[in-house]
Amino acid sequence: MESEIGKVLLTAEEIQAKIKELGATISQDYQGKNLLVVGILKGAVIFMSDLVREIKVPLALDFMAVSSYGTSTESSGVVRIMKDLERSVEETHILIVEDIIDTGLTLKYLVENLIARGPLSVKVCTLLDKPSRRKVEVAPDYNGFSIPDEFVVGYGLDFSERFRHLPYIGVLKPEAYSK
Ligand code: 5GP
Repeated sequence: MESEIGKVLLTAEEIQAKIKELGATISQDYQGKNLLVVGILKGAVIFMSDLVREIKVPLALDFMAVSSYGTSTESSGVVRIMKDLERSVEETHILIVEDIIDTGLTLKYLVENLIARGPLSVKVCTLLDKPSRRKVEVAPDYNGFSIPDEFVVGYGLDFSERFRHLPYIGVLKPEAYSK
C-alpha cells in the first residue's frame, strides 16, 4: 500500500466483483438498444474501461470532460464543458459513467445538457456515491458503492492528479494534504 494512504476503503477484488454485477445488469437492460457509454474524464476512465468489458451488448464509447469551478476538494456547481461528444446523440441510449457523485452538481448539469440533445434515454452509472453530501436531487441508475463522507482516492480518483493509478480506493492520511 502507498505510504500516504491511511486506510483502504474498497479493495481491488471488491471493486472488480461489483463491476461484474453492474455489467451483468446493464447488459440485460440494454439488450437490443443502441447504447452509447459516455465516460467523464478523467476520473471515470479506469472504471469505464473495466465496466465496458463486462457489458455483453454492442456499444459505442465517447468521452466528455467538464471542469467545475472551485477548489480541488469542493465543486461549485458552475460547470464548463472542456471536451464534448464527437457525434449527435439522437437515436441513442446514453449511459453516463462517473467515478463519484458527491454534491451532484456536476451530474445534474451533465444529465440536463445531454437530455436537451434529444437522445432516446439518459441514465447514470457511478462507481461511488456519497449521498450524505448531496446539494441537488440526482440519483444514479446504477451505483457500485455508497460511501461515507470522506475524500477518497485511487481507481481513477485523484488528489492533485496523483493516486489515479491505484487499483483500490483509499482515504489519504491527513499529512498528504499538506504536501
Ligand atoms: P459533485 O459535482 O458531485 O460534487 O462532484 C463530482 C466530482 O467531484 C467527481 O467527479 C470528482 O471528480 C470530484 N470528487 C467528489 N468527491 C470526491 C472524492 O472523495 N475524491 C476525489 N478524488 N474526487 C471527488
